[in-house]
Amino acid sequence: MVSAGVVCSRKSDNLFPRMKQTSIHIPVQIYPDFHALEIQDAVLYESARNATAAAYAPYSRFRVGVAIRLENGQIITGSNQENASFPAGICAERVTLSAASAVSPGIAITDMALTYINDTGDSNHPISPCGICRQTLSEYEQRFGRSIRLILGGFTGEIYIISRATDLLPFAFSSRELRPH
Ligand SMILES: [Zn+2]
Repeated sequence: MVSAGVVCSRKSDNLFPRMKQTSIHIPVQIYPDFHALEIQDAVLYESARNATAAAYAPYSRFRVGVAIRLENGQIITGSNQENASFPAGICAERVTLSAASAVSPGIAITDMALTYINDTGDSNHPISPCGICRQTLSEYEQRFGRSIRLILGGFTGEIYIISRATDLLPFAFSSRELRPH
């Protein structure tokens, strides 16, 4: 496991003495497969696997399933919903986040499991949310003031656990920028 999500800064040593250099580390826990997960995580991951069956992905043939656990223990599932007008399609993550907000408004999300079946390729390695979904997850974390833990995997193979969705979107744009100073 890589060390914490820490920003490390140091002064540049030569050409640009007034410049500092920064790097960001993202902690990732790697499990060999879904059977190695803690029971709570395995249950959520299994729900995400089942959710791939409801995907509507006639164009990409890439069926994504998501399961969210809410603070009250409720599990909400969703899948990607494509459209012949491609930008009208919605990723499984945002389908599920919206469903959770609609069904159980005001209840924080604690975990999200994400998996997929690629009908035209491999399904044996973790995938992670696209940029728009990372932005959306970031807003949910900010809105509820708590981290959303991500469990990312393929239908088989290694599982990655990332303790904060925002770790996937360093320097995220947020509502803080829109407040008057
Ligand atoms: Zn997405």
